[in-house]
Amino acid sequence: RGVVSPEAGADDRALDGALRPRMLEDFVGQDRVREQLSLVLRGAQSRGRAPDHVLMSGGPGLGKTTLAMIIANELGAPLRITSGPAIERSGDLAAVLSTLQEGEVLFLDEIHRMARPAEEMLYVAMEDFRVDVVVGKGPGATAIPLDIAPFTLVGATTRAGLLPAPLRDRFGFTAHVDFYRPEDLETIVRRSAGLLGADLAPDAAREIARRSRGTPRIANRLLRRVRDYAEVRGDGTLDRATARAALSLYEVDELGLDRLDRAVLDALLRRFRGGPVGLSTLAVSVGEEPETVEVVAEPFLVRAGFVARTPRGRVATPEAWEHMGMTPPDGAAG
Ligand code: ATP
Repeated sequence: RGVVSPEAGADDRALDGALRPRMLEDFVGQDRVREQLSLVLRGAQSRGRAPDHVLMSGGPGLGKTTLAMIIANELGAPLRITSGPAIERSGDLAAVLSTLQEGEVLFLDEIHRMARPAEEMLYVAMEDFRVDVVVGKGPGATAIPLDIAPFTLVGATTRAGLLPAPLRDRFGFTAHVDFYRPEDLETIVRRSAGLLGADLAPDAAREIARRSRGTPRIANRLLRRVRDYAEVRGDGTLDRATARAALSLYEVDELGLDRLDRAVLDALLRRFRGGPVGLSTLAVSVGEEPETVEVVAEPFLVRAGFVARTPRGRVATPEAWEHMGMTPPDGAAG
């Protein structure tokens, strides 16, 4: 879904290496998380021990992978990366755990999607640095305990609420990564522009930051689209006019709404007079799957204060009418 999706695409991944801050002090924003994490790491280092396991919760594109890499860098420790969906059986996890080096940081992305049997194995590994390897089948099966190297697990999830309590409880610290403030996003785009060798004017940075939905990944992507535009259609200078022209070409509006967001708002306002309307009815009227509307468009529209969820359905707020340049009809719910 294009330019304002918080999920990583191939071109994001290609540049992630270049744009990712490597140490905590280069990590922009999220001051509380940075401070908390710094204490956890320093404390462990001064005791000469591997730090407690860290759980990171927050939406896509907000820097969870980046923070895991930073943790390893700060500790001077190797990093192993895997993800919940890659662990289909407990054997997959045993293979990873039993080959960890002492002090290694294990990053387990989308930890809530790991297979259940592997979860049990992870509990024991996190607590006792031990893996019980089951040999044989049926009544003759035996569990052989195998010591593994002390390691630090960094788990990431977009849905902390979905984690079983016994797993959540085994993390010493949970970092909640939130949407970024516009001024932090501005700093991030300026830093990225520097790394990409792009000549970005301060007011262009502000323009990009404002439309980035609080998400560094989107900010970096919009910056690249503006750079393309500046190089192909202009003289390579990324000024405010170029930024505005490029972003309007990609149909990203003043507040970061894209075509789908506006289609949803438009249907809600025009067809349903501001609601309330059920999500699936709304989805049908814009020709999308309900899930797309629910997962992709709605969270941002709710956070931006344009849509409210009520027990009777979705309702437009006065801000939505205003943003779309429309007047609420008399007696409309908004
Ligand atoms: P996902 O869960 O979708 O993989 P994520 O939360 O792990 O997302 P990252 O891959 O860590 O997100 O970050 C996305 C991009 O945003 C990276 O390329 C990184 O360069 C940039 N980024 C994230 N956080 C920051 C930050 N605080 N300062 C500067 N750049 C950042």
